Amino acid sequence: MLNLVLFGPPGAGKGTQSEKLIEKYQLVHISTGDIFRAHIKNQTELGQQVSQIIAEGNLVPDSITIAMLEKEIKENSEAKGFIFDGFPRTVAQAEALDAFLTSIGQRITGVVALDVNEEELTQRIAKRQEISGRADDAADKLKKRIEEYFNKTIHVLPYYEKQGKLAKVDGIGEIDTIFQSLTYIIDKY
Ligand code: AMP
Repeated sequence: MLNLVLFGPPGAGKGTQSEKLIEKYQLVHISTGDIFRAHIKNQTELGQQVSQIIAEGNLVPDSITIAMLEKEIKENSEAKGFIFDGFPRTVAQAEALDAFLTSIGQRITGVVALDVNEEELTQRIAKRQEISGRADDAADKLKKRIEEYFNKTIHVLPYYEKQGKLAKVDGIGEIDTIFQSLTYIIDKY
């Protein structure tokens, strides 16, 4: 199995690149943000539990996020592999993912981090909000999300670096150029 983590701050291009990667490598895309949004749209119990947290730009508690992620993996037991997008966002989530994958005889193959500076992120998300209308893309909420990224999520990088699994890619430039840089790394796995 090829199990990839596509890592990066909000607006780094994880969603866009994931779409292209799942097609090339025939993987199942697990975006915790997309799953949460579907729950909110469908007004499930989980959706009601997390909608306020997400609207404010805060991270959903680890216990809720990890349980949802494990369920998603179990439901795709026939998958050739996964792309995890927007997960793990805390070291506790990274540890839980490793433990869960080990329990089913799997492991993370590699982690590719998209590197994009804060100014570019802010510009991209302002543009995205015009199209998506996502409440958490609004400037004040985005500020909170970027704060969450630098306070909690960034620590996931050294976690994988210690395991020798981390590769960084410049996330600024043409979509296809960035995609080529990603596939160059992934093909080596
Ligand atoms: P995203 O679409 O990945 O930017 O996620 C949108 C929002 O969903 C985030 O700002 C968080 O509120 C929540 N979320 C998504 N993934 C996670 C995660 N792994 N841990 C905690 N909260 C998450």
